[in-house]
Amino acid sequence: MENAVTCRACGKELAHGQIESDVHYVLPDGKKLDYSLYRCPACTLGFWWPMEQPPLVFYQKMYANFAWDDVSRDFPDTEDFLEMAHGLQGKLLDVGCGSGAFLYQLKTRRAPFQLWGVDLLPEGVERIKKTLGIPDVHAMPLGEFSKGEHAGAFDVVTSFNVIEHAGDPVPFMESVKRLLKKGGTTIFVAPDANTYTAWAKIHNVAPNQFAWWNRKSLIALLEKQGFRDIVVKPIGHMAAIDVVMGPAVSLGLVKKKIDFSNYGSLGSTDF
Ligand SMILES: [Zn+2]
Repeated sequence: MENAVTCRACGKELAHGQIESDVHYVLPDGKKLDYSLYRCPACTLGFWWPMEQPPLVFYQKMYANFAWDDVSRDFPDTEDFLEMAHGLQGKLLDVGCGSGAFLYQLKTRRAPFQLWGVDLLPEGVERIKKTLGIPDVHAMPLGEFSKGEHAGAFDVVTSFNVIEHAGDPVPFMESVKRLLKKGGTTIFVAPDANTYTAWAKIHNVAPNQFAWWNRKSLIALLEKQGFRDIVVKPIGHMAAIDVVMGPAVSLGLVKKKIDFSNYGSLGSTDF
């Protein structure tokens, strides 16, 4: 079928034309990016197509305002994580570790984990190594990190508000599975798109966010990816959803300051 698109959570093939919105950008070098929002009628995932990640400079500009926050402040999802991770220990990898705030919370609380991190942005990784005393952090794409020596090395893989930004969630979850030991657990947080306001819908378009998750679509993704003991629950501090699975996940909403004004232009949204 021409232009066939499959749902990235449940795998259902969508008819061309099931598009809710379009968004267009012009990058500083003149390159055009065009994305369309599809809505899966089966699992209700909203996803932007194509799921092509923009160049690194996009993330560097987007996160320049807040990625280097004072990490001594509390990381909002720490308590929820510790509750979900009760009884777990060993090697922990935080995917998209950003400023290192979550890893630093685990370090200061003496949580029973050996702390590892991976992130696209080398600025944050260098800062974590130098100022937080956490040496095992790496600047590289998750897919690359998951191959070779790190495959099957981790007891726990976490990510906090990463999966909605990470492009195609299928290779993302495949990388997470590759990194986990047999019987390992993933715990992650993502915003609940059912709580998105009109403002959030305008700001959470591709290539910032590629997928709009909710409880139903997250369960569909995890089941399709072969996870078991799936738990999805709201995080207390925001109206959101959590997902835990064992291999497990968590989902919540964290507001981020995002400023597109330095990057391209928001052409047309249709919410
Ligand atoms: Zn679906």
